[in-house]
Amino acid sequence: MILPILKHPNDILRKKSTPVTDVAVSDIQKLIANMIDTMYAAKGIGIAAPQIGHSKRVIIVKTEDEPLALINPVIIKKSFRKESGEEGCLSIPGIFGTVRRYKKITVEALDTHGNKVTFEASDLFARVIQHEIDHIDGILFIDRAKKIYREEKIEKIDRKP
Ligand code: ZN
Repeated sequence: MILPILKHPNDILRKKSTPVTDVAVSDIQKLIANMIDTMYAAKGIGIAAPQIGHSKRVIIVKTEDEPLALINPVIIKKSFRKESGEEGCLSIPGIFGTVRRYKKITVEALDTHGNKVTFEASDLFARVIQHEIDHIDGILFIDRAKKIYREEKIEKIDRKP
């Protein structure tokens, strides 16, 4: 089900989300399905549960294969190197910014079956995971961005005199 995405400013976006205690319950499975539907509908590359109004530690990252659902994700290792990159957010439409993120991270989480997974992520994949984990901690990219700018709208050219 496609749900409305909460827009900044909103108290839920600023709350620290609580860990999921039972992945198998239908509420969590439904939440994951709704997050995936909503992310695709909004053409996003990631989404976090608070963005559709649930203070739960669940994030989705779009990948080339299936969308990756991570429950209670934790970054257990960070590279020394950081990298600047452009970010936007479904909850802050039309605004972009340059954010420094770890280039490479190791993530520990539960998958949709409740199994523990540990994997390495780098570059854009690592950036999206860091952005989404920030969401479940109540942090938005505009808090970290060095430069914030508005998307420039191209005006329609009217040739009539
Ligand atoms: Zn976001």
